[in-house]
Amino acid sequence: MQDFLEKVALITGSGSGLGRAAALQFAQRGARVVVSDVNEEGGQETVNLIRDAGGTAIFFRCDVSQEAEVNALIQQTVETYGRLDCAVNNAGIGGVLVPTHQYPLGNFEKVLSVNTTGVFLCMKAELQVMLSAGRGSIVNVSSVSGLVGFPNNLAYATSKHAVIGLTRTAALEYARKNIRINAVCPVFTMTPMVEGLLEAVGPDRAAMMEQGIPMKRFGKAEEIADAIVWLCSDASSFITGHSLPIDGGMTAG
Ligand code: NAD
Repeated sequence: MQDFLEKVALITGSGSGLGRAAALQFAQRGARVVVSDVNEEGGQETVNLIRDAGGTAIFFRCDVSQEAEVNALIQQTVETYGRLDCAVNNAGIGGVLVPTHQYPLGNFEKVLSVNTTGVFLCMKAELQVMLSAGRGSIVNVSSVSGLVGFPNNLAYATSKHAVIGLTRTAALEYARKNIRINAVCPVFTMTPMVEGLLEAVGPDRAAMMEQGIPMKRFGKAEEIADAIVWLCSDASSFITGHSLPIDGGMTAG
């Protein structure tokens, strides 16, 4: 299906994991893809994967917590491809695993600067282009930790709850401007971020985490990408302000 032909999709944090899976899928469906990450090697690898499969992509390095870098990224996107139709604000980091009374301020601020301020800065710059064009679709990557608490990971859960607030508020502001803004809320999905987490907690706890999911398995990056791309597509044209759990039933109980 080539339903994104002529369209331009930007995915932050697409040098790895969920962002890379989404970038590949946008390209397969005909979009010209802007791959962005702080990790240049990973970003370039994603571009190579897309080009090897016959798609169109370019890499721009950007730290989403830095306003000047975000603005430059959006400017480079428009200069290169002339438009921006879909933006996936996906770049994110985990936090340290300690209870709240021991949580270090420095790490709390760092996690919020990437996971929350990063989404704000990206949306702010993306919306300016989309407003001029009179159309657009944004997907922010939150987490099930944006819907329910995540013990011993205060900064991460706080940052992801905030992403839902950003999403709902902006969705209301731009609903009449033909710009849709949604969030996805994945449960544990096998990516380098979660592989690191599972290693940190050990095999027993990792097995418990998997068994805690009603479908008794972790997610696959492609399953999250499916939902992201669908929320950017015309197939979801009446959906805005939504936060979609992709969680094997985790938040149903
Ligand atoms: P990942 O670590 O594989 O990929 C994250 C990417 O973001 C990396 O390439 C990293 O270099 C990049 N990044 C980090 N800080 C950045 C910054 N300041 N600016 C730009 N890029 C930056 O992790 P992932 O699992 O693919 O996570 C992607 C998103 O999905 C994150 O927002 C994460 O919180 C969210 N998420 C992941 C899961 C999961 O289980 N994997 C579940 C829920 C939500």
